[in-house]
Amino acid sequence: MPSSVMSTIIPAGGHGNPAPIAVSAVGLRKSYGDKTVLDGVDLRIPAGSVFALLGPNGAGKTTAVKILSTLISADGGQVQVAGHDLATSPDKVRAAIGVTGQFSAVDGLITGEENMLLMADLHHLSKREGRRVTAELLERFDLVDAAKKPAQSYSGGMKRRLDIAMTLVGNPRIIFLDEPTTGLDPRSRHNMWQIVRDLVTGGVTVFLTTQYLEEADQLADHIAVLNNGRIAAEGTADELKRLIPGGHVRLRFSDPSAYQSAASALRDATRDDEALALQIPNDGSQRELRSILDWLDSAGIEADELTVHTPDLDDVFFALTAAGAPDPTRQPNQTGQTGQPKETVR
Ligand code: ADP
Repeated sequence: MPSSVMSTIIPAGGHGNPAPIAVSAVGLRKSYGDKTVLDGVDLRIPAGSVFALLGPNGAGKTTAVKILSTLISADGGQVQVAGHDLATSPDKVRAAIGVTGQFSAVDGLITGEENMLLMADLHHLSKREGRRVTAELLERFDLVDAAKKPAQSYSGGMKRRLDIAMTLVGNPRIIFLDEPTTGLDPRSRHNMWQIVRDLVTGGVTVFLTTQYLEEADQLADHIAVLNNGRIAAEGTADELKRLIPGGHVRLRFSDPSAYQSAASALRDATRDDEALALQIPNDGSQRELRSILDWLDSAGIEADELTVHTPDLDDVFFALTAAGAPDPTRQPNQTGQTGQPKETVR
């Protein structure tokens, strides 16, 4: 950003035109015995977007995916998937969706290509069309060299790619990915992220569950945090980050007298005299940013740089799921406890 230009503020949550709804759930409930797993979950996922369902282990993410993909039934609630009612038209829902993840359909004893052809048969494609689609998808998912080898010899990343390729044989409009990168090395994880982005570019809606907050941050248009059977919070990654304290705005000046004027007027600000910078507590919302900008304008003070710092998504997740038992999903490499703010320059 040029130092003499105040950056433009982009309104929070600015999405394009409203899209049709791919998945909607109202009051979704599920119990196992006397254990309530989903206690009135509402979801609304626009078509062509990536939705991430986050939650600690045992929160009910897989249960939600299984219900939405018709694998198990709910105890209550109304669900529509791809415009079809889940309770009355499960076959139409099944025809519109693909599911991959922990309950992978890959058969390890046969080759990747045979797995694909089997899937083409299940979708009643002609032999010729099945071969065409198989060849195209093996190419697209970089599995041509491995196509004639048994799937059990594949690496974790290759198996996930084959699993998604098999799902795409049916040309689904909505894909459920249950923890698609758990256990993958960083390179395979990045490959999978690119696959998800490409799917969305192709118009597919992706419903993702993940334990990796960075994954939700990277991929998801909309994130919902599931805790104790309910959605504890939802929004874009940026909206969620604003829910907890720690956000601030940093104003940097090149003119020492402008810095001094601002520092003496903005009493909440933390000073950095060496850098001529002020740090002001701020939730990063349009309203609070505007109040700072309006004040600078009215005082005739010009800052050279404005930076919005929001808390890390890890901070949000741990704050929202902290009550009760300690969070079992917390990994040593997840940096929530550091409180180190992630920087968003606007
Ligand atoms: P997550 O995917 O978020 O880790 P799950 O949906 O797998 O959570 O599980 C949610 C809760 O439901 C857990 O306490 C789990 O033990 C319980 N549960 C899941 N499936 C069954 C089942 N078939 N019978 C009994 N309890 C189950």
